[in-house]
Amino acid sequence: MKPIASLSLDLDNKWSYMKTHGDAGWESFPSYLDIVVPRTLQFFKERSLEITFFIVGQDAALDKNTESLHSISEANHEIGNHSFNHEPWLHLYSKPELETEFRRTEEAIAKFTNQRLIGFRGPGYSLSPTVLEVLAERGYEYDCSTLPTYIAPLARAYYFFKSPEMSDEEREKRKKLFGKFADGFQSLKPYKWRVGEKSLVEIPVTTLPLFKTPIHASYVIYLSTFSKTLAKTYWKTAIEMCRVSGTQLSLLLHPLDFLSGEDAPELKFFPAMNLPIEKKLEFVSEILEVFTGKFEVVNMREHAATVAAENLKSLDYGKQAA
Ligand SMILES: [Zn+2]
Repeated sequence: MKPIASLSLDLDNKWSYMKTHGDAGWESFPSYLDIVVPRTLQFFKERSLEITFFIVGQDAALDKNTESLHSISEANHEIGNHSFNHEPWLHLYSKPELETEFRRTEEAIAKFTNQRLIGFRGPGYSLSPTVLEVLAERGYEYDCSTLPTYIAPLARAYYFFKSPEMSDEEREKRKKLFGKFADGFQSLKPYKWRVGEKSLVEIPVTTLPLFKTPIHASYVIYLSTFSKTLAKTYWKTAIEMCRVSGTQLSLLLHPLDFLSGEDAPELKFFPAMNLPIEKKLEFVSEILEVFTGKFEVVNMREHAATVAAENLKSLDYGKQAA
């Protein structure tokens, strides 16, 4: 039997990229959901995959997105909470602010599905003890906001380099974007947090065992723009290392993995947005084939249920083992 692994997609919309990047025009919430949702649903249907879509509450609150978002739950995918405002500095929010953030997202999502939300991923991998507390109180069962990687400071440097017009104040807020170097010492394997009397399952976004470099699709697609052979070798090695080390992989996808610069001209400067869409989809298809060949791929809900059933000791925030 193949080991279990999960697949999810953070449905970051065009405006949230523009907002994080400090671009004008995001305030009218420009959307590409009508392009990317049908495309991804078709893609997963052809591969008989049921995954988890992490949805931003602000998108769910707008009538123009209701039809696209409804089609996701109609296609049997799990819906997860990806915050309301998609602010990567969520760890700076107070408890009342977080409660509002969660309540608004839950109410907006309830407009198009009666699925109960049990999973959360913070924008930009932001997490705090207060976030965990609010999750536990609201009946969530798992979190997947941690990204154990050493390269966060590098990713951040690249990002600031690409955003020269940002003010000091805006920079300050984004300081913890992509995490800090010490995040690399966090566990790759799923574990449980102790939150008061309750416990929450944590499923980290998988990074390469030992090296902790990202193995989510966007990074591998970016590598492929330099050398397809290199990217594929890296990917196959990563998958094999996870299998051999018993790491339960949780692979993360983004809308930009399914879009080209023509679909979203405002985001042209993002890595690999210059790839023609056919080439990009072909490559995503190839890497997913390697993944599903080695692992039994399920949604996050099912993955979390198997972790919950394991006899694991619950850890306090900040004490997670390497
Ligand atoms: Zn996001």
